[in-house]
Amino acid sequence: MELYYLTAHELHDLLVDRQITAEELCRAFFERIDAVEDKLKAFVTITRENALARAKEIDRQIAAGGQIAPLAGIPVAVKDNLCTEGVRTTCSSKILYNFIPPYSATVITRLNQAGAVILGKTNLDEFAMGSSTENSGFFPTHNPWDLERVPGGSSGGSAVAVAAGEAAVALGSDTGGSIRQPAAFCGIVGLKPTYGAVSRFGLMAFASSLDQIGPLTRDVTDAALVMNVIAGHDPLDSTSAPGPVPDYTAYLQNGIKGLKIGVPKEYMGEGISPAVKQVVAEALAALADLGAQIEETSLPHSEYALPAYYLIAPAEASSNLARYDGVRYGYRAEGGTDVVDMFMKTRSLGFGPEVKRRIMLGTYALSAGYYDAYYLKALKVRTLIKQDFDRAFASYDVLLSPTTPSPAFRQGEKVADPLQMYMSDICTLAINLAGLPGISIPAGFADGLPVGMQLIGKPFDEGTLLRVAYTFEQNTEHHKARPKI
Ligand code: GLN
Repeated sequence: MELYYLTAHELHDLLVDRQITAEELCRAFFERIDAVEDKLKAFVTITRENALARAKEIDRQIAAGGQIAPLAGIPVAVKDNLCTEGVRTTCSSKILYNFIPPYSATVITRLNQAGAVILGKTNLDEFAMGSSTENSGFFPTHNPWDLERVPGGSSGGSAVAVAAGEAAVALGSDTGGSIRQPAAFCGIVGLKPTYGAVSRFGLMAFASSLDQIGPLTRDVTDAALVMNVIAGHDPLDSTSAPGPVPDYTAYLQNGIKGLKIGVPKEYMGEGISPAVKQVVAEALAALADLGAQIEETSLPHSEYALPAYYLIAPAEASSNLARYDGVRYGYRAEGGTDVVDMFMKTRSLGFGPEVKRRIMLGTYALSAGYYDAYYLKALKVRTLIKQDFDRAFASYDVLLSPTTPSPAFRQGEKVADPLQMYMSDICTLAINLAGLPGISIPAGFADGLPVGMQLIGKPFDEGTLLRVAYTFEQNTEHHKARPKI
């Protein structure tokens, strides 16, 4: 297989055996980017010079002897809502088109310390609001399996970079599905860790009670390797959990005999396409053959997850995005007659339509007189949803569902209908509301398009998710398919 289509752990082995240098690896990925990026548009910013200098530095370290860390020299792409010191970070928004952060997100610092080579910043739906990367303030990103289709979102650029061989692994963020859904649409692995497992210092906030950073990778082993680098307490993020961090690779064991898997019936019913149901049913049969005990279960409040999410997330967004006022960061509109007029012009011209919709929805839901009826009610529903999961996890080790109701849809198909777009996260939102870990892994294909299945775990039990995912992967071939682009 081409170098750019190998996994990070395979590339690591080549580096260790001195069959390749980090510089050669870096150049090979830039060649690939040069060959396909015009069609895909996965990157907002490419940091070629920095990356090559970094790769040469890694080669010097390797030549000096000593151990080669698992991600040393590995080409990585990062979502453009993660702050990178000295490198433009835009959230794919006009309001931040020229913003250069004075510091890096903790996950970026940790990647750098681990020797990873960051190739660039990837496209997203503006401020991570969306499910197709069509809401980017700059340009849409295209799915490498079918260029007419969306890659999912909001971490669409990261998913495409990994799926198409423009990076070996990537980071994304997930507020309601933005790692798992694009991973499913692009045929790769996407892990949203437990709320608090990974520091969000330097992640531009969308909805702070939901946002998590996680890996997008070509296989489960790579997801564990990235988690080993990014997970763990950070004094700079008070919501990051204290306590020991496991070696995630220790969970990569091939075996699930006796493991209890619950399949929530609400996630296999109305709205899920027959093709997706078929793929998931086949995956369940494979897991049963491998010794898992599979039963149908119920999460009775599932239908309220979407309305609760679309009150809570916009409410938090309306507060978080108040800081973009033309004074402190990025873009400022010309011609303001006074300071309020300048705020208004800057925000009117700087934000795109979906971001404005969210700010208005959220501001409304939080306003006096509506707070109790909408925001507070949504918080109560959130507790009911969390309790559904608690009950289910009293009986099951993991829950399993489709990641998305359908495979990747066409560019333009849903962009004019926000509710249709919101529905594409119907299987992933509740997991963020409950703060749980979720992983999407390639489960098969429908009409040549990848289909993902989602495993949902107990809080901080990424380990069991990785074990089940790894076992499925070791016994199937879906993750080996690569798009022909
Ligand atoms: N698609 C969902 C939204 O638009 C989730 C986005 C995300 O996870 N960042 O809010």
